Amino acid sequence: MIWNPGAETLRRSELESLQLERLRATLRRAAERVPFYRDAFAGARMTPESIRSLADLERIPFTLKAHFRESYPFGLFAVPVTQVSRIHASSGTRGKPTVVGYTKNDLQVWREVMARSLAAAGAEPGQVIQIAYGYGLFTGGLGFHDAAEYMGLTVVPVSSGNTLLQIMLLQDFRPQGLACTPSFALHIGETLREQGVEPSKLGLRYGLFGAEPWSEELRREIEAVLALTAVDFYGLSEIIGPGVSVECAEVRDGLHINEDHFLPEIVDSAGNRLPSGTEGELVLTALTKEALLAIRYRTGDVTSLNPEPCKCGRTTVRMARIKGRTDDMLVIKGVNVYPSQVEAALLAIEDLAPHYQLVVDRTRGFPSLEVHVEPAERLVQRWGRFEPSNPELAALRQRISDRLRAMLTLNPEIVVDPPKTIPRSVGKAVRVVEKKSVGV
Ligand SMILES: [Zn+2]
Repeated sequence: MIWNPGAETLRRSELESLQLERLRATLRRAAERVPFYRDAFAGARMTPESIRSLADLERIPFTLKAHFRESYPFGLFAVPVTQVSRIHASSGTRGKPTVVGYTKNDLQVWREVMARSLAAAGAEPGQVIQIAYGYGLFTGGLGFHDAAEYMGLTVVPVSSGNTLLQIMLLQDFRPQGLACTPSFALHIGETLREQGVEPSKLGLRYGLFGAEPWSEELRREIEAVLALTAVDFYGLSEIIGPGVSVECAEVRDGLHINEDHFLPEIVDSAGNRLPSGTEGELVLTALTKEALLAIRYRTGDVTSLNPEPCKCGRTTVRMARIKGRTDDMLVIKGVNVYPSQVEAALLAIEDLAPHYQLVVDRTRGFPSLEVHVEPAERLVQRWGRFEPSNPELAALRQRISDRLRAMLTLNPEIVVDPPKTIPRSVGKAVRVVEKKSVGV
């Protein structure tokens, strides 16, 4: 279902003139109200009036994550805090969190773009949705919650974690939709299987999974254990939260960006714009925000854009599934690789459980990589027990090694761990563990 055909099926020329008009209004607002942007525009020798077409976008300076941190907590806000209806913040693994604010109108825009996402995944008014994203400062839980209520769904706000409670509610409340991280979805599905619950007996039809990069292979695993259509979505708190883009359930080949609210570009590491179809870093400009303006924000997420019309009827540009973050890229012995690429290679091996962890050892001169995997459950059942000296394990290690070398030219140490020893995710999965020398 297309939630807002008027916005989602606009002709390109109409869309672009709307984008330009909104961009210029946002630039004026930024220059008038936010000292950071006023200074940045002056430094780049541009004014809002000098931006006459979308091609002029390149003259506008970038906004970086560091700028958010430097202006903690409210320095980037374009309205007094008294006009901010809600504040969210990122986890802030390194020091202070990134703080974002929403006016009443911003919250309404968020509901609208999230309702479009829910509808694209298959949600219809009258259905039930179980929201297993964390509630709180993180935008996942409340972002879904508000929009689901707004579009007429019945919300089960269970939040993240507590796998057994999740399963009980899936069985008893019979939601058609589930929203959580892909790694948690897999964990719920595998736990169901261990309990002997047939997933097709649940009422699930679709799942909205995102907030961490995942692969096509993981999608197939999740669909097998939960018996639903797994849909990828994308968003980030600096821009709005979830709701920036979503796959359509019909095609699932790229995520439709809500371009009337978010203007996308792809740039290389030096910040030069790249043509459609080329892979690079996603840069987004929020076109309709009031409280927190994000102008040419460098997301750090690696993707490409596809402007081809989609069979679902939406005319909005599609971004490829996120490959990883520019700062997640591992450089191992001269090979650049994203964890999601290793995931895709590993999950294509049938004799492995869909769990893995990458350990990057930086204690020596050059970083080296250990890939930790687990054997598939049925293998262990056949063996009777997990025995490190089992010759089949050595053969399995060799196959993994051959595959990683062939697909990614990687030659890591392969460690096949005993079953169920790699940590399972009840929120965001920890895929990469860094080993560093003491004192670094
Ligand atoms: Zn589509």
